[in-house]
Amino acid sequence: MARILIVDDHLAARTTLRQLLDWHCFQVCGDAQNGKEAIEKVIELKPEIVLMDINMPVMNGIAAATEIRRIAPSTKIVFMTVHEGPGFRAGTKPFAHGFVSKSAAGKDLIPTLERVAGITANEMTLECPHCKVRQKIHVAVAAGLAEKGRQRVSCVNCHREFEVRVADEVVGGPFVA
Ligand SMILES: [Zn+2]
Repeated sequence: MARILIVDDHLAARTTLRQLLDWHCFQVCGDAQNGKEAIEKVIELKPEIVLMDINMPVMNGIAAATEIRRIAPSTKIVFMTVHEGPGFRAGTKPFAHGFVSKSAAGKDLIPTLERVAGITANEMTLECPHCKVRQKIHVAVAAGLAEKGRQRVSCVNCHREFEVRVADEVVGGPFVA
């Protein structure tokens, strides 16, 4: 049973999410009201998954995710936001194992968390062919994802895309090695 930390600045959202997750047999180990508190709780509670709102006072979800990547690289992050659109989703991709829009949460949240909970992230270190900066890529090892393929990832340094040949799905990264 995956332990989840809920991060949202609205009390009503935290309460609703906690009830939903409890009902679906996820263990909510704590909650936080902003990114700064989320980082403290990740250190204290060591959750497996952080369910992260993006727009919050004090520290937003993307800044917090960047820091959580550094201090607890095996922690999986699922963004939950009111923002829609592929551009925004792509912007969170370097940090996220999952992305759920709040308008579709009733339908998408539980399947996304079940998928993320089943992922074991394998880390590979690769060099960007453009700028030669070495960086870590997280590769999913999960049943049903073992399909040979090519993934395009964008470089953490020069932001140009390069291709990664992997047996499984790239779920996060790159991060600077
Ligand atoms: Zn590069």
